Amino acid sequence: MSARPSPTVRPATVADLDAALGALSADQLAATVATLAGDAFTGRRVGTPGNIAARAWLAGRLSDLGAAVATEAFPVRAVPDIYTAPTARWDDGTTTADLSFGRDVAPHLASADLPTPRRGPLGVAGAGDPAGRWLLVPAGMSLFDAYGHAEGAAGLLLPRHVDAHGWQFTMLAGPNPGPVPVLTLSSEIHDAVSKAAWVGAACFAADAPIRRVDVTATNLYGRLRQPGPGQPDVLLTAHFDGVGDHPGLRQPGAADNGSGVAVVVEAARILSATLPDGAGLSVALLDAEEVGALGSAHHATRLAETGAAPLVINVDGAGHLRQAAAVEAGGPAHGLLALLDQAGRHTGVPLVAGPVASDNRRYASAGFTALGIGAGMAGYHSPAVPGREPPGAALRCSVLPRFCPADHESRSLSLVWREVISRTTSGLCWHHYCRHSPFGVGSGAIIGCDFQR
Ligand SMILES: [Zn+2]
Repeated sequence: MSARPSPTVRPATVADLDAALGALSADQLAATVATLAGDAFTGRRVGTPGNIAARAWLAGRLSDLGAAVATEAFPVRAVPDIYTAPTARWDDGTTTADLSFGRDVAPHLASADLPTPRRGPLGVAGAGDPAGRWLLVPAGMSLFDAYGHAEGAAGLLLPRHVDAHGWQFTMLAGPNPGPVPVLTLSSEIHDAVSKAAWVGAACFAADAPIRRVDVTATNLYGRLRQPGPGQPDVLLTAHFDGVGDHPGLRQPGAADNGSGVAVVVEAARILSATLPDGAGLSVALLDAEEVGALGSAHHATRLAETGAAPLVINVDGAGHLRQAAAVEAGGPAHGLLALLDQAGRHTGVPLVAGPVASDNRRYASAGFTALGIGAGMAGYHSPAVPGREPPGAALRCSVLPRFCPADHESRSLSLVWREVISRTTSGLCWHHYCRHSPFGVGSGAIIGCDFQR
């Protein structure tokens, strides 16, 4: 006779898993990403009409799954907003070159608002009289140090690396506005302009139309199954907000995090029908992650107040499963982590311990078991590929394979969850894992427990 405790819920079987896999729809995943990344939702920055419309659409999706849907609003202060397309040009005394917003030049988060273009001679921070000049900040000089040289300057020009597609990706969380306009120039442009500045006779003209807006953010929750007494309650989370479009610059946020939302919604659809009796299941689609994970901070606080103890699995980026998926564990997650490791091995999705700096950390720091999964960020915070493609057929063909690379990969990620949850709820081997199987960190260590299926 086995000495293991008898589970109060029926363990999953291979047949259960096969049935779950058979129900998975890669088309559904792709369609969800395409809709979230579409023009109508304008990149889903917190507080924008596109964000609100995306949430309403997702609420409909959760209702269609049979979820009891609820929302929770909270204020967000000082969200950066580029309110008109920035312009910038420079000349070396003989020729003038316009700079392209997003690639060559972008307002820095620390920039003061400069609504109309300001023209001035070019100079170098720390060299000569700054008055009235646009000052190039040498690579290696901090913004703080540059401010010390910027008395009376027209503005500061910082160098910035661009991504593989040539974009200066957008961040919303960062420094507060300072006393002068600050622009970032791609390293290549910064080099060229710096050379001209040292020669003299070069001028720069630009605006920096960036302001801060106070908005209301709203989380979306869906309860699909109530847990039985003493039974596990799984909470799947993903943020639905993005950094948002700029004027003239689409930033669709397909990978970050349309893909994670798609995976969570599809996994919820499958799991709501196939979880063992007694296991609870809910979904939180979170707002305001891009401005500092405020949606999850809000939700984690609320959950802690109610005494809930969900097992949280957060997905941020599910766009590139060709490489290993990064997994970060927080809170008392050893057991869940070991189960995920086992599931990854079973399904052939390689997992590595890696930073997943996302909403999972808010739940973990509130004391909950929380795993973050990050599996790829093509076009991170930029207009890369998706933004230059029209929605519809072209988007589907050329972009979505990057996010849902292959049917079997989509299947695998959801299978991982299916396994995690079925193992968790089966009550098998939990202590064994905790004792003997710290996460293998992709080392190839085999977890030596033979599940009884
Ligand atoms: Zn994200």
